Amino acid sequence: MLKRITVITLALLAFGSWSPAMAYVLWGYKWASSTISYECDMYGDYTTQCNNGKNDWNSRTRANYVYGGSTAGVRTNAANYGNTGWSGLCSLAQVSGNTIRRADISINTLYTDGYSSAQRKGVITHELGHALGLSHEDRLGPGGAVMYSNDGRTVYSPTQDDINGVNAIYR
Ligand SMILES: [Zn+2]
Repeated sequence: MLKRITVITLALLAFGSWSPAMAYVLWGYKWASSTISYECDMYGDYTTQCNNGKNDWNSRTRANYVYGGSTAGVRTNAANYGNTGWSGLCSLAQVSGNTIRRADISINTLYTDGYSSAQRKGVITHELGHALGLSHEDRLGPGGAVMYSNDGRTVYSPTQDDINGVNAIYR
């Protein structure tokens, strides 16, 4: 996946087409429908912040997460995964061509237990953005996109750039 992201980034630079109005980067995978089943059934504040992030994407974009329980397309888990270097991870567990069938979000509590609720929301909202098909957007800096790759982001909700990206995927 890192290689794929690099290719996309280089292509944009080569064409010189970058502008702040269209900075979002697409992963290249999407769901067959803009209605996507999910579950946020972790525990405590992780469930709360996951639902807050889900509500943000639903209210601001054309994507629509609907609760699907244990057989949902987007599944979440919060656990101590150890000193991995990542606080959140989104794995495309099942894909058919470019169509996502299942995405698994993992939250590494080794790090996130020490985060504020706002920071946890930022991490989970970021991973939910991956699950919709967004890749990392670092060119706008820490405040430009919730899809900023590092937890040093200063926004914890989708920005206009993130919204534009999702709406470019689900029309
Ligand atoms: Zn990420």
